[in-house]
Parts: sequence; C-alpha cells; structure tokens
Amino acid sequence: MKQKIALVTGGNRGIGLETSRQLAAQGVHVIVAARDAAKAAATVAELQADNGSAEALQLDVTDAASIKAAVDTVSTKHGHLDILVNNAGIIRSSPDGVPSHQPVEDWRWIFETNVFGLVETTQAFLPLLKKAPAARIVNLSSLLGSIGMHETPGSPIYEFKSVPAYSASKSAVNAYTEHLAWELRDTPIKVNAAHPGYVKTDMNHGGGELEVPDGARTSVALALLGADGPSGKLMHVGEVLPW
Ligand code: NDP
Repeated sequence: MKQKIALVTGGNRGIGLETSRQLAAQGVHVIVAARDAAKAAATVAELQADNGSAEALQLDVTDAASIKAAVDTVSTKHGHLDILVNNAGIIRSSPDGVPSHQPVEDWRWIFETNVFGLVETTQAFLPLLKKAPAARIVNLSSLLGSIGMHETPGSPIYEFKSVPAYSASKSAVNAYTEHLAWELRDTPIKVNAAHPGYVKTDMNHGGGELEVPDGARTSVALALLGADGPSGKLMHVGEVLPW
C-alpha cells in the first residue's frame, strides 16, 4: 500500500511532536510543520533517528503567506495530502479568573491562532486532501469547548470558567468541524475534533493528568481512522463527547 502523508501543525513540541512521532512509527510520512523552521528540522532529525520518514516545513497558521507557501511545497513534492492534523494552539486565562474580565485583545489573539488559523490552513489544504483516496482532518479541540459539558452540574468542567476565550475558540472549532464534515459527507474524507485529555505539556505549565504519549492517542486514532469510523464528532479516544 502507498505510504500515507500527514501534516501536523505545531508538530515541534507537546502533543503535536508526539502525534508526529506516533504517526511516523506507524509508517506514515510526516510533514512536521512549525512556525520556526529550525524547530521543525530538529523534530525531523529526532524522528529520522528512530527510522521515521519525515520532512520539515515552515508554517505559521496566522500568516497567510506562510500557509500558501506550505501548500505550494506540499503540492509540488507530493501532489496530495492524506492527513491534516490541525494541532497548533494557544491559551491565556482571564487575568483574575473571572470570565467577563478577559480582555477583548486576548479573545482576538487566541481566535487568530485557534480558529482563524485552523480554518485558513484547512481551506488552503482542502484541494490537496481531496486528491487523496480517503483523507482525514483532525482538529485539536478540548473538552473546554463543549458547552454541553460546561452546563452540566457534576461534569469535570462545570466550574472551570477561567479561560473563556480559549473555551469559546474550541467551541468554534467544534462548530467548524461539524459543518465541514456535513459538507464532505458524500466524500471519503472524515473530519473530527479531538479532545486529547488533560495532558502534561507546556500549555499546562507542569499540570495535567496524562503523559504526552497518552495525550496523542486521540489525534493518532482519528488520523488513521478506518472507512467505518465516525465523521463530524468530538472524540476522546473511542468515546464521542457532547458538543
Ligand atoms: P503546547 O503549548 O505544548 O504546544 C503548542 C504548539 O502549537 C507548539 O508547537 C507551538 O509552536 C504551536 N503554535 C502556536 N501558535 C502557532 C502558530 N501561529 N503557528 C504554528 N504553530 C503554532 O500545547 P499542547 O501540545 O498542549 O496542545 C496542542 C493542542 O492540543 C492545542 O490545540 C491545544 O489547545 C490542544 N489541547 C491541549 C490540551 C492539554 O491538556 N495539553 C487539552 C485540550 C486541548 P511554538 O513552539 O513555535 O510555540
């Protein structure tokens, strides 16, 4: 069978690096995309040292010219893309934890990467994904984007309201995921949102419940989903979560 080609945004550290590592270990050719080309190259060297097949790509998801150049490179080199993992993401808390106190500048800053960057990257790569036999799009979301979980007393996030801009950015990712999956429902392309769990990465400043290898499991499973797998869902490993 032909080797699959995956592109992972923010592939240089955290869940993105581990997703790249696990996909390479499964025989996928991984395009490690990072906004800092040197960091992408360092990750590729790491994967290749483990006999993985990988290449580095500069990609800042907030920079339209960078996205366009990345698409041109992948198009010229490979002509198609099998898997897009929209992993790049940022977070910032409300200064005192009160939802209404998060400055609108934070909202703009977070949406620029987590929402507009993800949408623009996806739109730009869609023509190459449509050229693959059965592409997969994985959007890194979060349980925090689930309004259903937020409003349910007793849910793990019922009282976790200190990152409203981040939570809303992931709700937007969820809505985009559902809409895109609907648009592509009669194609072999599957689009899902991933909740990786509460993972010990830089984003959580030492906090977290899951080690990074476990935190990458959902992204990897959705990237390698079979033809009978779901589309248009928010997933944690094999479990469907409420929007
Ligand atoms: P990290 O902070 O460890 O890594 C974030 C990655 O995103 C880095 O590679 C960073 O690159 C990259 N990035 C940020 N901005 C851009 C940009 N403009 N263009 C390209 N890359 C960018 O985060 P995690 O690994 O923890 O998170 C990965 C994803 O998982 C995020 O979308 C996050 O929201 C989501 N998530 C994480 C959870 C967790 O518990 N960790 C829980 C739920 C969801 P650089 O090194 O250049 O800064």
